[in-house]
Amino acid sequence: MAADGPRALVAGNWKMNGGLAMLKEPRLLVAMLKDVKLRADVMVCPPAVILRRVKSVLKGSKIKLGGQDVHWAVSGAHTGDISADMLKEAGCSAVIVGHSERRTNHGETDEIVRKKAEACHRAGLIAIICIGETLEERKAGRTLGVTKQQLAGSLPAGATAANTVIAYEPVWAIGTGLTPSTAEVAEVHAHIRSELGGLMGSEAVQTRILYGGSVKPSNAAELMSQPNVNGALVGGASLKAADFLGIIKVYT
Ligand code: PEP
Repeated sequence: MAADGPRALVAGNWKMNGGLAMLKEPRLLVAMLKDVKLRADVMVCPPAVILRRVKSVLKGSKIKLGGQDVHWAVSGAHTGDISADMLKEAGCSAVIVGHSERRTNHGETDEIVRKKAEACHRAGLIAIICIGETLEERKAGRTLGVTKQQLAGSLPAGATAANTVIAYEPVWAIGTGLTPSTAEVAEVHAHIRSELGGLMGSEAVQTRILYGGSVKPSNAAELMSQPNVNGALVGGASLKAADFLGIIKVYT
């Protein structure tokens, strides 16, 4: 991976997995990383109902806690939703917004994602903004156009390198075992960096751009070594401490 540039981030998105029985995994991870010097930040994003339990497991470690989604409003009549302040209070330092599963299953538009990212910023949370093309869009040669449009629509005006992370996650690579070629990853990440330059000015250089989509221990080193890849957003392989560690190890 690039020696200069922003400090990498490896974030695990547990999605709707993991009740209390899952607490053994972060416990193991804390133990395994205890004396390891890392060149990356590490984060786990468990389901909201166990955030506080995971937070107490992570106590004393450098592993950070993130939420998987947030409502854009500060409070009010939004049954089932969670505000950014609530996530902050539960111990989160970041929140994933605009994951393709939210965009697809919950109809979240770029505008909604932007409002959610703004809510994160208001609460002092990092917004991990997900973008990525579908297989149809890639086949139609629209990957760069789609990611450009998603970025422009989802990035709030106050975005900085400190409060925003971009996760490039091709929809067709999520949970499928498929990944783009390293050249394709490098192409899209360079494009995102360049688009961020237009949207954020000099902040773009230090803004972390994660790759996500079927990252596992066996392909992490190659994917993470591509230019403009500043870490990973990991789904399935973050559920077992040993697998997640196999990815984090790229940054030892
Ligand atoms: C994700 O959903 O953010 C993801 C990257 O999933 P997976 O690693 O399982 O492909």
